[in-house]
Amino acid sequence: MASTIAHFINGEVTSGSGSRSQDVFNPATGQVTGELRLANQDDIKSVVAAARAAADSWAQVSLSKRTAVLFRFRELLSAHVDELAELVTAEHGKVLSDAAGEIGRGLEVVEFACGLVEHLKGEYSDQVSTGIDVYSFRQPLGVVAGITPFNFPVMVPLWMAPVAIATGNAFILKPSERDPSASMLMARLWKEAGLPDGVFNVLQGDKEAVDGLLTHPEVDGVSFVGSTPIAKHVHETATAHGKRVQALGGAKNHAVVLPDGDMDLAADHLNAAAFGSAGQRCMAISVAVAVGDAADTLVGKVTERANNVTVAEGTNPDSDMGPVITPAAREKVTRIVGEAEADGAALVVDGRDLVVEGNEEGFFVGPTVIDQVKTQMSAYTEEIFGPVLVVVRAADLDEAIGLINANPYGNGTAVFTSSGAYARKFQRSVQVGMVGVNIPLPVPVAWHSFGGWNDSLFGDLHIYGPDGIRFYTRNKVITQRWPEPAHTSNATFNFPSN
Ligand code: NAD
Repeated sequence: MASTIAHFINGEVTSGSGSRSQDVFNPATGQVTGELRLANQDDIKSVVAAARAAADSWAQVSLSKRTAVLFRFRELLSAHVDELAELVTAEHGKVLSDAAGEIGRGLEVVEFACGLVEHLKGEYSDQVSTGIDVYSFRQPLGVVAGITPFNFPVMVPLWMAPVAIATGNAFILKPSERDPSASMLMARLWKEAGLPDGVFNVLQGDKEAVDGLLTHPEVDGVSFVGSTPIAKHVHETATAHGKRVQALGGAKNHAVVLPDGDMDLAADHLNAAAFGSAGQRCMAISVAVAVGDAADTLVGKVTERANNVTVAEGTNPDSDMGPVITPAAREKVTRIVGEAEADGAALVVDGRDLVVEGNEEGFFVGPTVIDQVKTQMSAYTEEIFGPVLVVVRAADLDEAIGLINANPYGNGTAVFTSSGAYARKFQRSVQVGMVGVNIPLPVPVAWHSFGGWNDSLFGDLHIYGPDGIRFYTRNKVITQRWPEPAHTSNATFNFPSN
């Protein structure tokens, strides 16, 4: 029996007034498991009204009381890791340990937000002019919306909400339609943690909900994570409606393997970074740039490992990799692999025909490795977002860096080398926001910020960490004078100076 998945508005679970709904699937079985309510205009109005009212009072709550809520939320989240992971695996398909891993990374952001008293400390300049001091502090934006993708249904909302709430905002989460249930459990945990009603809300929906939030006059800021075309749409629409926006987009992450690198280390990490979560990570390595003599050895070692990946339902403890999210996602993978083969690339591991016994209706596709890929092929130009590693060969490090910098995306990249000099040249030259040195998925820890460059991020500030604090707050600067009882006014028609 498919259960109804509703909204969470002003501290209550509600079906809303919309008449539309959408099926939610278990991608490992192909079965419908939920019926998701989709917001209409009235639902958008009611969630924004609730958030608006809550934002005004939440911003007045003392920092120590806010901190206490954040600490309680951290404890509750930690106590519910298994339950959350099961929800993620049931709707996303990733293996349970990977689901627990994403919750762990989200918890780090909650822990960062627990330090809000430190993050919100202002600055003070004494006696900038005779008897005059200047100080600054940051105030919340008000109502902020977070629109999130399917691939991290817990971690990405946690990149946003804890920081937004810690800094005194009310938050409206619009999760992905594909895996919305984890957000409802998080809503319950926020409430149990003592967060006042209306400060954390979940609005379920599709484009209508998103566009309604982007254009609503009472929404002050929008954080978005998803694909590049939608990130552009979100950035353009929300900025045109006067909002502060950060919109993180898609990726095509390259890992450069130099001949002096440790080939086993590189192959192990490329295998995990390309096929973990069935390649559905914004920081997945989807292109290996094999430099010079590294190519044949690397392709051989990666092939061996790809052939040993266990593909099975995410609840199976032996599974390395689950299904992709939809039949459409699987078709995209098979189309692009077919095009690469037709264009003359070498298909060294082909996962297109994989059938998982007992899960014949699931949306599975196996690990695939394509060698000799050229930059004009669709396997190189498109974000595949599936378990496909393409190998491009480059003569030297300069050519590899040139390839990366010519790519429109700039989310993450990595270099495998034993030379500090090459690594340093690489990290200083690539036009990419996050760089790993012998680290394939350089997702920054929570007290640094996460963000790509170029078509991987629209807006100025990265997400969570120090940039997250800046994004969800505005700076206010006070210039003050407290004259002595017997003072002489020095008012002047000239611009004041000391
Ligand atoms: P998506 O862009 O399809 O959806 C993201 C969100 O946008 C969802 O909440 C969805 O409901 C909404 N949306 C979809 N179409 C819309 C439309 N036409 N108008 C308004 N809203 C719309 O992305 P996805 O398939 O859920 O997630 C995968 C994508 O997200 C990949 O491109 C991946 O690289 C990217 N991603 C990027 C990062 C990052 O940090 N840069 C992190 C995770 C995922």
